[in-house]
Amino acid sequence: MSATPRSEVKLEETWNLEDLFKTAGDYEARVKEIEEGAAAFAEKYKGKVTDGQNALKALKDYEKLYEQIIPAGTYVSLLQSEDQTNSESQMRAAKFGSVMAKIGATLSFFESELSELPEEELKSAMDQSEEFRVYLADVLRFKPHRLHPEVEKTLAAFGSTFDAPYDLYNVTKLVDINFPDFQADGESFPNSYNLFEGEWETDPDTEKRRAAFKSFYGKLADYQHTTAKTYDMHLQIEKTNADLRGFQDVFESLLFNQQVDRELYDRQINLIMSELAPHMRKYAKLLQKAHGIDRMTFADLKVPLDPSYEPKITIEESKKYIFEALSIMGDDYSEMLKRSYDERWTDFAQNKGKSTGAFCSSPYGSHPYILISWTGSMEDVFVLAHELGHAGHFYNAHNHQGVFNARPSLYFIEAPSTMNEMLMANHLLKNSEDPRFKRWVIASIVARTYYHNFVTHLLEAAYQRKVYERIDAGENVNAGILNDLKRSVLEEFWGEDVTIEEGAELTWMRQPHYFMGLYPYTYSAGLTVSTQVSKRILEEGEPAVQDWLKVLRSGGTKTPVELAKMAGVDITTEQPLRDTIAYIGSLIDDLEKLTQEIESAEVK
Ligand SMILES: [Zn+2]
Repeated sequence: MSATPRSEVKLEETWNLEDLFKTAGDYEARVKEIEEGAAAFAEKYKGKVTDGQNALKALKDYEKLYEQIIPAGTYVSLLQSEDQTNSESQMRAAKFGSVMAKIGATLSFFESELSELPEEELKSAMDQSEEFRVYLADVLRFKPHRLHPEVEKTLAAFGSTFDAPYDLYNVTKLVDINFPDFQADGESFPNSYNLFEGEWETDPDTEKRRAAFKSFYGKLADYQHTTAKTYDMHLQIEKTNADLRGFQDVFESLLFNQQVDRELYDRQINLIMSELAPHMRKYAKLLQKAHGIDRMTFADLKVPLDPSYEPKITIEESKKYIFEALSIMGDDYSEMLKRSYDERWTDFAQNKGKSTGAFCSSPYGSHPYILISWTGSMEDVFVLAHELGHAGHFYNAHNHQGVFNARPSLYFIEAPSTMNEMLMANHLLKNSEDPRFKRWVIASIVARTYYHNFVTHLLEAAYQRKVYERIDAGENVNAGILNDLKRSVLEEFWGEDVTIEEGAELTWMRQPHYFMGLYPYTYSAGLTVSTQVSKRILEEGEPAVQDWLKVLRSGGTKTPVELAKMAGVDITTEQPLRDTIAYIGSLIDDLEKLTQEIESAEVK
């Protein structure tokens, strides 16, 4: 249970951070080294990045420094995410943030000087060096938006202050809020972020599920104004940044790094809001009927179609599913999966103060780390397959690319992860003819993979777009406005078929993604690509797998459009998205048919 303090969880269920630093002392020594290294770098190169040759020489040293910083940053952030209530970890992360801001200011001259080089000089340096080509191309692309070197230095010195809203959000959410117990069926139950999202939200007992919902959102409401103010602060920083740097609006500024134009972004939101909604309403009706619910509400949408069928899975048992389903990716990939268990890459434990949800952090020069709170449901296996998809992506990219070439656009980040969910589902479907099992698998893909990526995150994206439109118009937001915007998106999508009860409008408070730019829409973008490629893998087998591995290995050396193309998907058109929406519709039709089949068999 997540009331367990971190100190009491089993070691074998935790990640091994010693692979980053053996002791906290080693970490401290590294920080010192980084500080000295940054000072030495400035001493050596400041005022001297005068031509392409010098730039390449400096980049070599810069790369080394950068590679030293990565494990240190990962170490502090992972320690913090495993237990946000640990004040030592909190203080360590805060101090690291301040040190990094100082280092950022010390090093900011470098990109300024690079940026001031004549374009031909930069281009010839790019031609001479494959390993720094992407980095220099980014410098060149960003050149029109770069400010005076002294201004850049000042802004860098404020770095940790600009990150403060996200820290504040997390402290409010994970340290300050304590959820009260709630009553249902004459009993009392504990509540927390992890319990609510991991258990109560999917609980088949409608009275209990709704009581948990009411109590959870009731407590969120107490913190809505602080959380909204924190978010507004973040939005105003983004807006000021976009204005100062001469971007047309916040959207252009945030999409700049993704190397995606506004059309691809808008298409994802517009098409899904209008064309997926009818399918999902049908799914809601199916749930309603299966559970005999009078009036479907927002609190009922995550209940499984057939909860009596949900198998319980231990961490040990998860190996079989993971290894078998993903073996199609080849020996090297399978070896990585095995290592992830043997070397404790994953933090499975459930404890108080642990970050909610799941993530994968892949520091260059080390192996990936995964955070998940294992509840023992089959859904966890899908989540783990998803996070191992991120791990497999960076594992491949890091093995084939230098540090500055490894990271792809955010637009593409969720493609390899959702691909693994598809592979898991395909594997399970292939191995059974039992209609009840098949229905359970398809329901899992709809309720988990597509619901999560095409509904939850997409509705966040639709809401987020409305928020930024306001900010671009020079307005601010507060809790009342955010509640109205969130409610309007939920009502638009679910229409008459689902009642958006009081409290649901506070759902915006639950998502850390809003502090990460235009992230929410990329889930459906990634899953659009992976749905199409997983179909290719089903139909063509090995050649499609090989294409996909090439994509993973390319890391950040290609744009999202180019990466998708390598795997045979053209995302410059609407077709892949339309095909994916149609596919989701067909899955829901399958669920209806299988349900009829199962029910008529039961009658006999
Ligand atoms: Zn992911």
